[in-house]
Amino acid sequence: MGARTPDQIDPIETAKELGIEVTFGHLKGATARIFRVGSKARIRVSDDIVKEGRRRTSITHEVGHFALGHELPAEGDPASWFKASCEYRSKRDERDADILAIEHLTPAPMVEPYCCVTPVDLHAVSAIERVFTASPVMSAMRFAELSPEPCAAVYSERGVIKWMKPSRTFPTHLDGGTSLARESIASGFFDRGALTEEPKRLQASAWLGSSKHVDPEHEIIEHAMVIPEPGWGGVLSLLWLPNWTRRAPAEPKHNR
Ligand SMILES: [Zn+2]
Repeated sequence: MGARTPDQIDPIETAKELGIEVTFGHLKGATARIFRVGSKARIRVSDDIVKEGRRRTSITHEVGHFALGHELPAEGDPASWFKASCEYRSKRDERDADILAIEHLTPAPMVEPYCCVTPVDLHAVSAIERVFTASPVMSAMRFAELSPEPCAAVYSERGVIKWMKPSRTFPTHLDGGTSLARESIASGFFDRGALTEEPKRLQASAWLGSSKHVDPEHEIIEHAMVIPEPGWGGVLSLLWLPNWTRRAPAEPKHNR
């Protein structure tokens, strides 16, 4: 849309540029929704108080459905709602709209310099939040996606990992449903309601168990925050394995 700097990225302007009308008002169950109005479209944005990053993501997600040519529900036609609202669309279409929103709000060429930094911790993530007016979760996921360091954003609730986003050099994957180790900051929050605010050094085994790729005593650094947004409430941990590099595979043995 012609933005050259992060402050020029404005989802409402993007919507208008595409011919979408944007209105504000009461909206049930979502921060933004898009409707078809004749041959045009309208995005209704909730006037509830939410963080600006969340509002921007929601609006751009709806713009994404329009830009990707997804079917839109017609305003005042509840039947169309059951096949073409975000609650009923295919997971694939939802994912595609999310990807478009992420790429539009934090374009890789602009955000990459903020991801190529050390130390890897939430201070680095909050720079992205601030510069791009993005939510903390989106900023952390984008950071992990583009960082060259072995790191990962991990979201957990009630002592259990819900999902993780590894960087391309992070050596392993942590499955959803895995219980947190007691030494982790995230686990401390669920056990005692107290969150250690500084980055914490742990042994890699606390997060990675007995991974075949990482010495269990290698240092892993966790920096964590509670996600206060409605519908979240869990802990986001940013993990980093400083000075870790993948070992070259062992030379095959030759029989002579
Ligand atoms: Zn959607």
